[in-house]
Amino acid sequence: MPIRKLSSLLINQIAAGEVIERPASVVKELIENSLDAGAKRLELIIEDGGRRLIRLADDGAGIGQDQLTLAVARHATSKLDPDGRLDQIQTLGFRGEALAAIASISRFRLTSRPTADGVADEAGWVLQAEGSRIGTPAPAACRPGTIVEVRDLFWNTPARRKFLRSAATEFGHIHDTVGRLAMIWPRAGFSLKHNGRVVLQVDAPQTRRQRATQILGPDLAEALVECERNEGDLGIWALLGLPAIDRATARFQYLFVNGRIVRDRNVAHAVKEAYRGLIRPDRHPLYTLALAVGSDQVDINVHPSKAEVRFAQPSEVHLAVLTSLRRRLLECDLTPSVANPVKLNGPDTPWAHGGAACATGPGNRQPASPWTGSTSAFIDSFQQMDPVQKGLVFDQVRHAMNSQPRQPDPPSLMAAVTKMQPILQVHNSYLVTQDDQGMLIVDQHALHERVMFEQLRDRLVKSDLESQRLLMPAVVPIAAGQMGLVEPLGPLLKRIGTTLEVIGPTMIAVQNFASFLFERNVDPVQFIGDLFERAADGQLGPLGNDRGAEEAALHEVLDMMACKAAVKAGDRLEPDELAALLDQRERVERSSACPHGRPTSIRLTLRDLARHFKRQ
Ligand code: ADP
Ligand code: MG
Repeated sequence: MPIRKLSSLLINQIAAGEVIERPASVVKELIENSLDAGAKRLELIIEDGGRRLIRLADDGAGIGQDQLTLAVARHATSKLDPDGRLDQIQTLGFRGEALAAIASISRFRLTSRPTADGVADEAGWVLQAEGSRIGTPAPAACRPGTIVEVRDLFWNTPARRKFLRSAATEFGHIHDTVGRLAMIWPRAGFSLKHNGRVVLQVDAPQTRRQRATQILGPDLAEALVECERNEGDLGIWALLGLPAIDRATARFQYLFVNGRIVRDRNVAHAVKEAYRGLIRPDRHPLYTLALAVGSDQVDINVHPSKAEVRFAQPSEVHLAVLTSLRRRLLECDLTPSVANPVKLNGPDTPWAHGGAACATGPGNRQPASPWTGSTSAFIDSFQQMDPVQKGLVFDQVRHAMNSQPRQPDPPSLMAAVTKMQPILQVHNSYLVTQDDQGMLIVDQHALHERVMFEQLRDRLVKSDLESQRLLMPAVVPIAAGQMGLVEPLGPLLKRIGTTLEVIGPTMIAVQNFASFLFERNVDPVQFIGDLFERAADGQLGPLGNDRGAEEAALHEVLDMMACKAAVKAGDRLEPDELAALLDQRERVERSSACPHGRPTSIRLTLRDLARHFKRQ
């Protein structure tokens, strides 16, 4: 067959193949267009999971009669100057292909009545398209704004149509998309109807926190802490789920960059690190994290549906997210209460059963915030950023955490064990005492482990750990396959004051051992043997890589050291040891969770007790 140019219908359909995967992709593109047009109110009507109808009516700037045909033309946009710069884009859209693509695979109708300088045109115009047939604009009666109607999606691309799932599944994706976008655009009100039923409705304007909690479900409010950082040219805003509402999967993690829904492994990793030790490694935190970055600091043109971005300085972003979130989390008393654990709404999207369907009034008018304008306004209010050191190292993190005054904890989250309280050791494993909120039950091993971990980490910030020369080197048998680890583990071992020598094909000798462990009678043979096992098992992550990996591995080793050195369940403690241990509880950070993320203590508040004894 000779080489020929494709028809414009085929070109559009091919583009649609990339951008429009399912009805939810249409919804995302349409919402983005409405937000770009400055809409304050978006009304979505969906029928049959979006297969029969997707209709979005907005009150935005609208499209003039002479522009309607261009709106559905490929590579035509009002958001980018024909010779403009891609690194200066301030809108959600910029490629000028969504409407063309959608129109080529549906029965499409675009109705609009524009507003210029605050005055709406007398009447509106409508343009219809179906496959390759694009009509001419005809007069139409409508409110100021734009209505896009997409019927029979994929009617002329049967292969795609076949891949559609059930209406319920497709609608689930739509619901998720609308929920996410509504979460990050509190300046606009959203309503979503499916088959005649209102499923989501939020009014505007709201604060980010109000909006996000309304979408996530008001029940969760107590278990979410807000975190904000507005220094430099990276803005961070987050609602962080406390460990009490951790999840089995990472699905309830919402990340936004300049008002876009994105995925980003680097940022996700930073958040995970921030929660390190606070929740169990097999659980996932729930969070909403929004970043505002200068448009020249992020490349948004790297993914067909703009679901990924590329940061110019990913390690700076990583460090800033990690330190801000971690600092905030450490300010909270994370001791779970025995009664009334907070529950999440439902198994799917948290808002699937949540409170977002009932609108709150528009009462809480907020001053214009950088987060509620266009994507450029997201960025504008962030001043020049302080130079941030590269890499993820404990001391930098620590420095960053300490260089800022800590905010006082909200009273309800903070409780102190008043001095001179009686302490009871139960079955040589648990300590029971009282604090100003009620009764505290502490797992002695978990708490001691945490205390040791923090002490070790503190010491490591200053220098390598002290080492103890062994009179007789301890000989450790190592599997032949693990001998290759001796070298990459070397620098890590040095930091904890330990040195090894290979003395045979499957034998190593420990010459110097961490004093910390030595003093606590930890057996070097067992400890080093264990460490090699774990390293071989990948539990220390990739060794000898970058700084971040090194720190993560070191963290694991500190966990191990703390665990081995800590008092065990079953160890009887003297009264002064009990007191000293509880005293440490208030000094060390995160004392409410051991390094493995299990809680170190639980609390029965006076209210819990009263309720249990039916006094309330
Ligand atoms: P892009 O958003 O990348 O510009 P689209 O194909 O999504 O491309 O839209 C093409 C153009 O149509 C937009 O640039 C905009 O001018 C106009 N447009 C689309 N939707 C709306 C809307 N809801 N309100 C006002 N203008 C719109
Ligand atoms: Mg668009």
